[in-house]
Amino acid sequence: MYRTHTCGELRSSHAGQKVTLTGWVHRRRDHGGVAFFDLRDRLGIVQITINPDLPKEALDLVANVRMEWVLQIEGTVQKRPEGMTNPKMETGEIEVIATDVKILNPAKTLPFMVSTDTDLADENTRLKYRYLDLRRERMTHNIVLRHKVIKFMRDYLDKEGFIEIETPIMFKATPEGARDYLVPSRVYPGQFYALPQSPQQLKQLLMVAGMDKYFQIARCFRDEDLRGDRQPEFTQLDLEMSFVHRDDVLALVEGLYTAMIPAVTPQKKILSSPWPKISHHDALEKFGSDKPDLRFGMELMDVSDTFAKSEFKVFQSALAAGGVIKCIIAPKSADMSRKEVDALTEVAKTFGAKGMPTLAITAEGVKGSASKFVTAEEAEALKSKTGAKEGDLIVFATDARAVVNKVLGGLRLWFRDKLNLADKDLMAFAWVVDFPFFAWNEENQAWESEHHPFTMPKMSDLDKFDTDPGAVSSDAYDMVCNGYEMASGSIRIHRRDIQMKMFQMLGLSNEDIQAKFGHMLEAFEYGAPPHGGMAPGIDRLVMLLADEPNIREVIAFPKNQAGRDIMADAPSEVEPKQLKELHIKFE
Ligand code: ASP
Repeated sequence: MYRTHTCGELRSSHAGQKVTLTGWVHRRRDHGGVAFFDLRDRLGIVQITINPDLPKEALDLVANVRMEWVLQIEGTVQKRPEGMTNPKMETGEIEVIATDVKILNPAKTLPFMVSTDTDLADENTRLKYRYLDLRRERMTHNIVLRHKVIKFMRDYLDKEGFIEIETPIMFKATPEGARDYLVPSRVYPGQFYALPQSPQQLKQLLMVAGMDKYFQIARCFRDEDLRGDRQPEFTQLDLEMSFVHRDDVLALVEGLYTAMIPAVTPQKKILSSPWPKISHHDALEKFGSDKPDLRFGMELMDVSDTFAKSEFKVFQSALAAGGVIKCIIAPKSADMSRKEVDALTEVAKTFGAKGMPTLAITAEGVKGSASKFVTAEEAEALKSKTGAKEGDLIVFATDARAVVNKVLGGLRLWFRDKLNLADKDLMAFAWVVDFPFFAWNEENQAWESEHHPFTMPKMSDLDKFDTDPGAVSSDAYDMVCNGYEMASGSIRIHRRDIQMKMFQMLGLSNEDIQAKFGHMLEAFEYGAPPHGGMAPGIDRLVMLLADEPNIREVIAFPKNQAGRDIMADAPSEVEPKQLKELHIKFE
């Protein structure tokens, strides 16, 4: 038997017991002939005391022991003397007096310390030695939290009558708006499997199969540009239900999250229950984002009316061109220096602004770059309309509506971070609903599906398909939290004629439709039930719950930001023989 107990479980009630423990040397201290090891495993840390009265052989072994060696210790649990207890350690009431020490495996000096969280090595070094990085308490905590989240989801959905079904990784292209990863076939030269961008088609086919309520902790593969916090493969809680309307799906997922958050992270508070539902239009108008952070106010306000007769050229010309004037009120920011305002203007430009007029409300009157052009009446009207008060900074954007929303949405988040307006322990969940069905792609001069091509349009908008595609709205929904998109889903098309029409709108030829999606269209002819579902992302959820800045911190073996596995060095070249078998030649 390697061990009788794990390192984290001994308490004063174990005093007097003989135990055998295994683990890594977390720290070593030597004091007047006595050596103290903190022995660590995943479940905790315990202090081992090595007294000089051990047999010489054992003492000789101990002399060499260094950090991260793997030991087996036999010993007796002893209460620590009065005043020597360590309340910071769960096992701090006791120590184990070693009677024998075995070295199970020595360790080279590690490339970085795993016993502290400060002075972190750079990320590529951490990823190269990920198996060491994961020994750190913080990383172990993240991986365990991820397990708890997934376990909770499985148990909850099981109780709700869902069944977990695996779907193939090697399949056919399932579009979610990214490029596919392809797997060449050895047996069928020139043919490829595609890794699913999501199990979307398969879960719908499971509904046709009568499975009624499906879920899966599903890996999705998307070959996207590596900007932002993305991974080529990521994990979703993929689910689908038959005979449901939108609100049935939302209620199920809201119920799951509302039960899960306090169970796995009691320190996190959900801001409002039930979760607010915000239309896509309102989200853009009020928050300048389709994934609004609702933990703080600072809503965007339309003040075009106030400046309808403005002499200010910038305002005049925006209105004349059919644009709008909107603003946000930044609290306690009237004293921002000229330099700070200039720097912020540069930020605004990255969101598409041409400039950034401001008004500061001070005890000495209205100041700021727009103050020369704003009349006393306009300033008063503005204050009463927006509620701006002394100490506030009014930040304007003027342009076409979409640009203005984007600029102020970006600046709103900038102020959030600068002024610390959002509590990290607050989870502000909300549903964004009523999305447009199509998005116009300027570059390709074509309509694209805003969600994915299996999403149902609002039935009342069906007749606008040909006449006014931009006005069709969809039965799609997103779950958002704290400025992140946490999930998206929709009621699906279950009728062949509508699905066919959708593919045609996307510019696919009949041959293409048949070759790519013939199996879906055929399935819809055999009694497909009305169905819908969604797919909450697991990586981002665990990231928020763990207070981590990016999803790599909550994935055991992520790719780095350049899409490489630094540890195993992948992607990598393969043997010429393998390529030949796959009928592949490089140009
Ligand atoms: N398949 C969709 C996605 O991956 C989610 C869904 O519609 O259920 O975003």
